[in-house]
Parts: sequence; structure tokens; C-alpha cells
Amino acid sequence: VDFRCGFRTLAIIIFEGVVLNMELTVLGSGTYIPELNRHCASYLLKVGSQNLVFDFGRGTVGQLLKEGINYYDIDAIFITHTHADHCSELSSFLQIALEGPPLENLRNKDLKIYGPVGIDKMVHNIMSAFGIVDNTVKFKTEIKELKDGECVEGEDWKVKLLEVEHKPSRVCSAYRVESENKVFAYSGDTEDCDGLRNACKEADLAIIETNNTNDKEKQGHMTGKLTGKVAQESNVKKLVVTHVSPDYLENVLEDVKKEYKGSVVLAEDMMKIVI
Ligand SMILES: [Zn+2]
Ligand SMILES: [Zn+2]
Repeated sequence: VDFRCGFRTLAIIIFEGVVLNMELTVLGSGTYIPELNRHCASYLLKVGSQNLVFDFGRGTVGQLLKEGINYYDIDAIFITHTHADHCSELSSFLQIALEGPPLENLRNKDLKIYGPVGIDKMVHNIMSAFGIVDNTVKFKTEIKELKDGECVEGEDWKVKLLEVEHKPSRVCSAYRVESENKVFAYSGDTEDCDGLRNACKEADLAIIETNNTNDKEKQGHMTGKLTGKVAQESNVKKLVVTHVSPDYLENVLEDVKKEYKGSVVLAEDMMKIVI
């Protein structure tokens, strides 16, 4: 134990106890390609005692457990779009969260699921396909579709959905989270567009997908150079590059750094950043 480090932490708690940090944990930094060390898209954002989860791809429930977060500890889920690598694990989550072990309903707070247009239908389709019945009596589940620019607020946080361009696929959204004077942005899957830039504007931390290895085609995804350009022009203070194709992992940061002059890292599963 480093005594000085411990003392400093104690001092911060005493003198800055009112300052509320957001803490990001990357649960899934991968793409839809199966990899042992990179799960599908999911990010945990702790704001005070609240647990917000952005996207819920394959592996999310297990990754949350590694963080000590069980299914009943989640306050709100924000889905960017209905591609399976961003939401497929909702099926097993909803089974345990809504049907639950018969005699122990461990959740003591309402569950909120947010997303762009189409999320309500998707959640109900999952429940119908897997025969999931909502047996819960101690809490309510709210599924809410947010329009472009619409905000929801919780204890100490405000989240805004911004529609982004993930063509030709489907409706997709980025999210901008504000808590006290800090801003966190998550791109979802997107090309360079106004929605992405509005989400990232002056962000303390932005996590941006960079799934496009080809500079010439748009393909509904960001190239390294574009991610760097958007982060630079949006004045992002710290950048995390995520959702990178396995064959682009080695070179992506080199491309990002051609445009972005700030602090940048490549996302890894279970990476943690205090905002
Ligand atoms: Zn997608
Ligand atoms: Zn994706």
C-alpha cells in the first residue's frame, strides 16, 4: 500500500467530496467479428451511485459482472441502434431482469431503456421471440424512444440523443452526457455528420467508432483520419478510439494522430477512465 497515495485520495475525498466524477469502463471495444479479448459494443458510465450502460452487445452481462455490477444494479440502458453487435445481449438480460429468480426480486429501482425510433418495437419483439414475460411487481420498466435532440435526466446526469448517419443501414444515434461541468460523448456507429459533431463539442471525453479502413468510401463508419478531424474540430479534450476492425488495430492511431493533436488512446475491454 502506498501510504502517500492513500493519503492523497483521502484528502481529495475530504476537500472535494462534493465533486462528482463520471467513470467510464469499456465493456466491449470490438466489432461484430468474434474475438476472445474484445467483446461487442458496450460501455458502462458510473455517475455517482448510478450505473448507465451504453449499448448492450454480446458479452455485456459477463463484462459487467467483472466490474461488480449485476443485472439488477443497472439504472438505465441507452441503445444507439438495432444492429445485433450493439444490443443482442438484451435478450438474456431481459429474461433475468423481468422474469427473475421467482422468490428474489433483487432490483429496487425502476429500469429505463432508451434509444432512437424503433427501440420499443425491438424490445417487444425480443420479448415475444423468447417468450419473456414481465413478472416484476417491485419496479417498473420504461422503454422510451427519444427524438433527435431530446434529453432525459436522472440523478446528477442529463443525456441527449443526437441522430447520426449510419447509412445505408438504419437509424442510429450518438449520446452526449452532461454531469455537473463534465461532458462525455459516445458516437454510436456513424459517418462524419452534424449529430456526431454536436455530441462531441467541447467534450471532456469522446469515444468514437473507427470501423472504416477505407479512406475513399463512406460505408456508414468513420476512418481514422475522420475520427481525428472530428475530435480536433470539436475541441475534444481526450479521445478514445473504439469499434476498430481487427485488421486496422495496428495502424488506426497513426491515422487519427494525423488530424488530432490531443490525448488519444485505443479502447481495450475493461479499460477505465475517470472523466
Ligand atoms: Zn451498426
Ligand atoms: Zn457496430
